[in-house]
Amino acid sequence: MIPRSRQKALFLDRDGIINVDHGYVSAIDDFEFSSGIFELLESFRDAGYLFFVVTNQSGIGRGYYSEADFQKLTRWMTETFQKRGITIEEVFYCRHTPDDHCRCRKPDIGMIEEALLKYPLDLEHSWMIGDKASDMVLADNAGIPNSIYIGKERSAQATLSFVSVDACARYFQENQGKISTIREGYKNKTS
Ligand SMILES: [Mg+2]
Ligand SMILES: [Zn+2]
Repeated sequence: MIPRSRQKALFLDRDGIINVDHGYVSAIDDFEFSSGIFELLESFRDAGYLFFVVTNQSGIGRGYYSEADFQKLTRWMTETFQKRGITIEEVFYCRHTPDDHCRCRKPDIGMIEEALLKYPLDLEHSWMIGDKASDMVLADNAGIPNSIYIGKERSAQATLSFVSVDACARYFQENQGKISTIREGYKNKTS
């Protein structure tokens, strides 16, 4: 159901955030939920956030797996979240390869634009979480002020960086108030 008032959103990259990135994951048997992902989403859910997945799936365009494979896995993933009381509103994906020069492949903002067309979102209080520089650039390009980078090194572009999803989940369990914090000065950043 689409709410009437503007809702805050957490935009999630999939591979490396929701699941361990084994490279072009397309089967349920290969889909391993990241440690802490459920706890992380529980913290954001309890703070009133909606969840959207924004994922580059060039494996479709490259012919590694089909769109039907992807959708089957997506259904299973969202049902698994639902059983834990977590609703994924929608999974946006780009099926193209870089050579297609589409508007939806991250860091281009087509998927965020699509979300904004379909849902009344409060982008200024929204977050993006990802494990690639392109996810952080997407946040910048789309005007999502708060970003979380998961990786071994810190990201200068991200609001917060963590070595793992688990570490991120623990941080927000202990600092739930930070979820509502608006990043200051983000508009002055260079990208
Ligand atoms: Mg990723
Ligand atoms: Zn695309």
